[in-house]
Amino acid sequence: MLLWAARNRWLRDHLSHWWWVRRAVRKFMPGEQRSDALAAAERYKEAGIFAVFTLLGENLTEFAEGEAVAAEYQRLLADVVERKLHGEISLKLTQLGFDIDAEGAYRLFDQLAVEAASTGNWVWIDMEGSAYTERTVAFYERALAAHQNVGLCLQAYLLRTPADVQRLLPKKPAIRLVKGAYDEPASIALHKRTEVSAAYLAVASMMLEALAAGRMSRAILATHDTELVGRIAGFPAAFGLAPARIEVQMLYGIRAAEQRRLVAEGYDASALIAYGTYWYPWYMRRLAERPANVIFALRQLLP
Ligand SMILES: Cc1cc2nc3c(=O)[nH]c(=O)nc-3n(C[C@H](O)[C@H](O)[C@H](O)COP(=O)(O)OP(=O)(O)OC[C@H]3O[C@@H](n4cnc5c(N)ncnc54)[C@H](O)[C@@H]3O)c2cc1C
Repeated sequence: MLLWAARNRWLRDHLSHWWWVRRAVRKFMPGEQRSDALAAAERYKEAGIFAVFTLLGENLTEFAEGEAVAAEYQRLLADVVERKLHGEISLKLTQLGFDIDAEGAYRLFDQLAVEAASTGNWVWIDMEGSAYTERTVAFYERALAAHQNVGLCLQAYLLRTPADVQRLLPKKPAIRLVKGAYDEPASIALHKRTEVSAAYLAVASMMLEALAAGRMSRAILATHDTELVGRIAGFPAAFGLAPARIEVQMLYGIRAAEQRRLVAEGYDASALIAYGTYWYPWYMRRLAERPANVIFALRQLLP
C-alpha cells in the first residue's frame, strides 16, 4: 500500500503539505536546503563517517528541470571542496531528464563526472524501477568507458543482477549493492526477505572477490542489515582483502549507532544524505521498508 501511495499523484500533492508529515520526514533528511545537507555532513565528518549527497526528485516533465538539477549538483560539488568535506553525489537518471532527452541527460551526467574528477570526487547513479534497469546499465557502460570516477547502484532482489555484475566486470566497475526498494513483479524479482538476503550475500561475495582481483574499482554494501554485513565481513579475509576495503553505506537517520560501531571496527562507513523539496515518493519508499516508521509518523500528530 505504501509503495502504491508513493506513486499516487493526489497523495503526493496533498500529504506532502501536512505539517505532521513534514515533521516526520525529518527523521530521514536533515532539511530541504543544500546547506542543511552540508551541515549534516559536517556532523558526520566528526564521527569519521563520509557523506553521499542526493537531491530528491524523479521523472521530470521538462528537460530544463534536468539542467537545473545538474546545476545544483555542480554547486554542491563546489561546496564540498570549499568546506573540505568528503562527500560524493548520487543521482537518479530521470532527474537529469532521461525520459525526455536521453542524450541530453548523458551530456549533463558527463559534465558532472568531469567536474567531480577535477577534485577527485565521484558520481553515483541510483537504480530506479525495473522499467529503467536495462537503460541505466547501458548508460553506465557508456559513462564508464569515459570516466573512472562513476559508480552504479544494483539491486539484489532483481533476478538479472548477477548477470549484470558479470557483464560490467570486464570494464572495472564501481558498484553499490542494495536490496531494492520498488514494487517489482515476481517474474523478475525476489520477494521473500530470506531469498533477497541470500541473493545479496551471493552478489556481495561476487563483488568482493572481483575487488580483490582488481576487477572492480569499488564495492559498496548499501544496507542497514548489519547482520548481513557481519556475515559478509568474513569474505575479505577469504579473498585477501583488508577489512577497511569494505565500504558500508546507510541512509541518514537510520541506525546511526550501527554506523558509528562500523567506523570503530575499521569499516569505511558513509551515509547518504538526501535534501530537496521533492521528498514525497522517496519518503514513502522509506516507510514501506519499515512499516513501524508509519507509527513514528503518526506520533508526530501528538504535541
Ligand atoms: C545508501 C543507500 C542507497 C540506496 N539506493 C537505492 C537505489 O538506488 N535504488 C533502490 O532501489 N534502493 C536503494 N536503497 C534502498 C534499498 O534498496 C532498501 O530498500 C533499503 O536499504 C532497506 O533494505 P536494507 O538493506 O536496509 O535491509 P532491511 O532488511 O530492509 O532492513 C534491515 C534492518 O535495517 C533497519 N531499517 C531498514 N530500513 C529502515 C528504514 N527505512 N527505517 C528504519 N529502519 C530501517 C531495520 O531495523 C531492519 O530490520 C538504498 C539504500 C541505501 C542504504
